[in-house]
This record gives sequence, C-alpha cells and structure tokens, in this order.
Amino acid sequence: MPKKILIIEDEIKINQLLVDYFQASQFETHSLYDGLSVIEWVKENTPDLILLDLMLPGKDGIDLCKEIRLFSNVPIIMITARRDDIDRILGLEIGADDYICKPFNPREVVTRVKVIFRRMSLIESQALESQNLKKSDLENIEELTSIKLDNEKYLASFNEHRLDLTPVEFRLLQTLYSIPGKVFSRDQLMNNLYQDNRIVTDRTVDSHIKNLRKKFQQVGCSDEIIYSVYGVGYKLEF
Ligand code: CA
Repeated sequence: MPKKILIIEDEIKINQLLVDYFQASQFETHSLYDGLSVIEWVKENTPDLILLDLMLPGKDGIDLCKEIRLFSNVPIIMITARRDDIDRILGLEIGADDYICKPFNPREVVTRVKVIFRRMSLIESQALESQNLKKSDLENIEELTSIKLDNEKYLASFNEHRLDLTPVEFRLLQTLYSIPGKVFSRDQLMNNLYQDNRIVTDRTVDSHIKNLRKKFQQVGCSDEIIYSVYGVGYKLEF
C-alpha cells in the first residue's frame, strides 16, 4: 500500500512540484490549496503524512497543525518561506514533526518524509515486538495452567488429556493444586489423602507422588511440575 501524502500549499507550482516528486517515489498524493477544507479532509481520508505550508488562504498552517493534533498524530512537516518562522513555530510547540524552508530541494523533502516513515516503522516494530513478547508470556501461562480439576467428578486433565488417577492421587493433586507454589508437608498432604483418617507413612505419600508424576508424563507433560522440597514436602509449580 503506497503511503498517502497530503500536500497543502497554495502556490500551485510548488504544490505540483511536490506532487511530481512524491509520485515519482511511489507515494500517493492529494493536494489542497487553502486551509479551509483541511480538517474535514484529514478526518475523512486519514493521510499518512501532511506537508503543511505556513501561509495559506483561509486558515494558516499553525492553526491547522494545532487543530489536527487534537484528533490525530499523523506526521506533519511544516513548510515556511522564512527561516525565522521556524524558530517562531518551534517556540509555539504546535506539534509538527519537521520543518522545511522555502526554497527547498523537492528531493530533500522526499528524503525527509522517508526518514519519518522509517522512524515510524521502527517504533511500530518495536511496539509489535513487545506485544509479541507479552503474547508469548500469556501463551506460557495458558500452557502452565492447563491442569484442570473437576472436584465433583474426581477428574483431572492436563492439556485436555485425561489423567487416569486413583482417588488418593486425585486428592493429593487437589491439595497441591489448591495453592500452587506452596510447599505442603507430608503431614498436610496425608491429612487430605484418606477420608477414613487412615494412618499412612511418609513413604506412602512419596510413592503416590511418584505415581502422580508418572501419570503426568504419560499424557505428555515433559516438565517437572510436582517438586520435592528437601526436608519439607512437595509443591506444585507452574
Ligand atoms: Ca503559502
């Protein structure tokens, strides 16, 4: 898609000169010759960049630039007939991106425009990069939280794969899953293990954990998710 350049310049020859050069560089152009219809046109056509002459019939470039900035961040290059004007406009902080003084070399104007577009695409790609980073972070989280428990049916799944768990294994996972990252002691885990308050040994918990890990591996979970914390117990960590 060619970039759309709006050229606002009341001197017809200069306007046409810019049109010729920009079109020769594969830009699309639209010309306006006074300040009156600018705001409306910009709102309706959203140009990619505006070349804006300072002295225009109807409404001058400074007012136009300020007005455009109220609703758009489109790059604006101001064109002035006097170098003094640049300092004056800079002082007003009207939000233009660049300034060009007449008489200008149209080739230089095209170059400046290309520089602005390059800068913009750089900023965009950096923004996209950080967006992608966030997206992949999210995907990881999704992947990591892919353990699902159905406490009523005693069903557990990992990445939509059903884990074939015994009731004891399910309760063990349920406890660990209730607070991911928290280290549960063997005693805490045992308390939830058997509903009939059966006395179990530490070794029992360990062997159930071993089986639980094996069952996660069977459904394709390659990472360790149930960690042993030496001397304390176990935790489930995503
Ligand atoms: Ca003018």
